Amino acid sequence: MAGERRYEGKAKVMLATEAGDRLWMRFKDDATALDGQKKATIAGKGALNAKITAVLMGLVAAGGVPTHLRRQVDEVTLEVDALEMMGVEVVLRNVLAGSLARRLGREEGQVLPMPVIEFYLKDDSLHDPMLAEDHVLALGLASREELAEMRRLTGRVNEILKAALLAHGITLVDFKLEFGRRGQTVVLGDEISPDTCRLWDTKTGEKLDKDRFRRDLGGLEQAYQEVASRLERA
Ligand code: ADP
Ligand code: UDP
Repeated sequence: MAGERRYEGKAKVMLATEAGDRLWMRFKDDATALDGQKKATIAGKGALNAKITAVLMGLVAAGGVPTHLRRQVDEVTLEVDALEMMGVEVVLRNVLAGSLARRLGREEGQVLPMPVIEFYLKDDSLHDPMLAEDHVLALGLASREELAEMRRLTGRVNEILKAALLAHGITLVDFKLEFGRRGQTVVLGDEISPDTCRLWDTKTGEKLDKDRFRRDLGGLEQAYQEVASRLERA
């Protein structure tokens, strides 16, 4: 039934629509970290993430990446194609930070000589374990062709967003994508927002992303607003 909750996650609610092949993706004001152990509600976050996702998905779509986005319905809701999700999180890193810096015992901030792509199993109860590409294949999460396509599209998303954000004085440090299938086509789903990207002010290094919440730095809403305002300047 239209309006029925298909799925409620940590950051979004997925709602059924009249058209069975579409969903409404409603962004919540909830912020979570540490696999949901740390929680808060930040007024305005849902609307900012919906807006930023709409702009960034629009940019990658214009650059030839198939995406699930159809239209923005209201402040916090995007209409998307219902995809059969791969169950994999694809992370691309331009700069060493976060879990990679921790795992390797390195300082954050080293620019990587090439973009690094990693795969993770989307499963909070297992803390999203990292997967080798062979695991993705052996677990049947994606075919060889789909894996290659996810890598290619992730690289393309990076080229497009890195350049677009840099033009607004923002360094794209790393980001996470989720892909799904629409028929035979590998399509970019989910969101692209400061919840799922690390965004640093290029001049000052100031964090304009969810690390403000993860690391108790405060000013999350203002940081997301800053990203949205800069993107609006186009
Ligand atoms: P989480 O499950 O990580 O807590 P969210 O709160 O972000 O996630 O909920 C969104 C859910 O919807 C995720 O499980 C995501 O994989 C899924 N999803 C995103 N886009 C689509 C789509 N186009 N079709 C079907 N499912 C989607
Ligand atoms: N990320 C995400 N969801 C996850 C894990 C990571 O959106 O479940 C994003 C995160 O915001 C960052 C990038 O993926 O932009 C790389 O995250 P990392 O592996 O460094 O993990 P973290 O330290 O952020 O948990």
